[in-house]
Amino acid sequence: MRIAKNSVVAIDYTLKDDDGMVIDTSDGSEPLFYLHGTGGLIVGLERELSGKQVGDHLQVVVAPVDGYGEWNDALQHDVSREEFSDIDDLELGMEFEVDTGDGPTLVTVVEISDDMVTVDGNHPLAGVTLSFDVTIRDVREATAEELAHGHVHGPGGHSH
Ligand code: ZN
Repeated sequence: MRIAKNSVVAIDYTLKDDDGMVIDTSDGSEPLFYLHGTGGLIVGLERELSGKQVGDHLQVVVAPVDGYGEWNDALQHDVSREEFSDIDDLELGMEFEVDTGDGPTLVTVVEISDDMVTVDGNHPLAGVTLSFDVTIRDVREATAEELAHGHVHGPGGHSH
């Protein structure tokens, strides 16, 4: 069968950034299972997988707008160091959930000075053009229960 909305799909993939560096891969582990058409994958990749079938092999280049978004300067904020006074071992790369008024957002500490801390709410892959190498391993219809839950059950999925 061909991949369509509500297909359960298993893919092997390798993801590289603009410089050809491997960011993520299923090589050496189980394929990635996802429920097609529910936003489980980034938009630009899911769109290319529609209509494909087991054994198909694709190279997909996804622009930031269809991936993790453009880099946005406005998502970097300087915060008074005092705001972090209850954290003993503040260091670069630490992640915090903050309330921005639009709900909780994950931010990463990108700079620390004596009195200020710069946090960044951009996704680590924002602004990056993504290159996927994908092989489709399995396609099946989702069960009614999977559709109700919005995720895959069984091998590669939830086991609850
Ligand atoms: Zn479930």
